[in-house]
Amino acid sequence: MLRQLHKLALGDRLKLVLALLLTVTTLAIGVVARPLIHLGLTAWHDRGDRMPVPSGSVDDASRLNQTRMQVVRVSGDLATAEVQLRTALRAATTRGLKVTIAGSRHTMGGHTLYPNGISLDLSQFRQMQLQPTTRILTVYSGATWAQVIPYLDRQGYSVAVMQSNNDFSVGGTMSANAHGWQPDRPPFASTVESFRLMLANGKVVRCSRQEHPQLFSLVLGGYGLFGIVLDVNLRVVPNRMYTAHRVTIASRDYVQTYRQQVTADVGMAYGRLSVAPDRFLQEAIVTTYHRVAAAPTATLVPPEPGLARIVMRGSVGSNYGKQLRWQLEKASGGEAGTNVSRNQILNRPATLFENHQQAATDVLHEYFIPPTSLPLFLEKCRQILPKHKVDLLNVTVRNVRPDRDAFLHYANREMFGLVMLFNQQRNPAAEANMQSVTRSLIEAALEVGGTYYLPYRLHATPDQFQRAYPQADRFFQLKRQYDPNELFQNYFYLKYGKQTL
Ligand SMILES: Cc1cc2nc3c(=O)[nH]c(=O)nc-3n(C[C@H](O)[C@H](O)[C@H](O)COP(=O)(O)OP(=O)(O)OC[C@H]3O[C@@H](n4cnc5c(N)ncnc54)[C@H](O)[C@@H]3O)c2cc1C
Repeated sequence: MLRQLHKLALGDRLKLVLALLLTVTTLAIGVVARPLIHLGLTAWHDRGDRMPVPSGSVDDASRLNQTRMQVVRVSGDLATAEVQLRTALRAATTRGLKVTIAGSRHTMGGHTLYPNGISLDLSQFRQMQLQPTTRILTVYSGATWAQVIPYLDRQGYSVAVMQSNNDFSVGGTMSANAHGWQPDRPPFASTVESFRLMLANGKVVRCSRQEHPQLFSLVLGGYGLFGIVLDVNLRVVPNRMYTAHRVTIASRDYVQTYRQQVTADVGMAYGRLSVAPDRFLQEAIVTTYHRVAAAPTATLVPPEPGLARIVMRGSVGSNYGKQLRWQLEKASGGEAGTNVSRNQILNRPATLFENHQQAATDVLHEYFIPPTSLPLFLEKCRQILPKHKVDLLNVTVRNVRPDRDAFLHYANREMFGLVMLFNQQRNPAAEANMQSVTRSLIEAALEVGGTYYLPYRLHATPDQFQRAYPQADRFFQLKRQYDPNELFQNYFYLKYGKQTL
């Protein structure tokens, strides 16, 4: 080759070298400059221009539910709070107003809202006390995981079952009956020993599996329709050190891989599905956290958004961004290979990745699918989603074991939960499209023996809701039995529960 090069005239040799240089430079620009330019532009545009909610109104995480309400900020002191709550309930009854209860307002369907009603804001109601001998944490329902985790961390403990982020209140978690990255565990309700509940008439009752067991099961996953949860006794677990392990697989092999990877030493596990166009829902990454003998690190490091946020936000409205994100996730996502404490993993706010643009919002869906139906459901999703031209940013997968505690349960057998995050414009056309795709996805889930999660947008038709939750009629009958004046109401109740005479 070199000998042939020498045979060429000087001018031709120069031309050849220049052509080579040009090719290498173009390749380098493609490999390095394109992602840099893409991420640089994303960072430039990723500046908050979100308008605050006007005073006298409240909204939830959807940013699509602004509602005028009178907000009562509940005291952090138990005795004062009880008096304040009773007074608010009496005043609402006298004035014919409805009452909603709010933790962190991360539901998306107006579950904390009612037009011109009274909103009980429990965010200051957040004291807690751990009994290390019994491993029971007594915590007021307004406390968020962001407050609970550092408290438990200092004493070597952690939360047994919770969402994948720390933004949520204990009361809101109970009322949605959340679940997360804890493999082979039933939802949150399974970790609740007992709680005290203020009923619509102001009376306080203790609920557990032995005392008022029916109310116990109705309140867990009951979306604030039965009363105000005051203090809760929760079972907690020791904090542990884990090392993360990651495998990339075909999504049709998800369940089989999950069973192989989740060995007895795994304390947390989740999956992610590709949303990049060339491998849309066909490739998956399964991350497992294996217990290691090391003592948990002494301090929780405050999480920083950094590059991960830019990579994630760079996938909004961009196939290239989705492709880039997936490649980066496969190469270096999660904490693969490093040691990290359980509390450090759990103590991450979802707000680090939230949308900052005024014209758009991020909305969540979740579908619970029986293990054997997962490949079929994914096939249906691959048909439905592109047809609606929705901007799917993320899909995570979690395992949920059967729930024996909540009345309005979503997992009567083992399920794999598929959490989908979409970016959506805040306008009627985008909302109609999201409603249509949601209904199609719910139908697909129902066809394969699955169901869907209730804290998100109320796009399901009443008929779909009934088919997904056949126990709903009885649930709402019991609601009216415990709260005959229907004092506790919200948009969820208005859409699916209220009797129309
Ligand atoms: C970004 C994001 C990520 C999420 N991730 C997960 C996840 O990983 N797993 C999962 O399962 N869910 C997840 N969710 C859903 C979330 O768990 C629920 O929306 C949960 O209810 C939020 O808690 P909150 O404190 O914001 O509740 P809120 O929205 O404030 O309230 C939720 C319901 O609980 C009722 N309520 C609140 N406090 C009380 C109380 N003290 N007494 C009686 N009723 C009360 C309210 O009236 C309302 O009906 C996520 C949501 C978002 C927005």
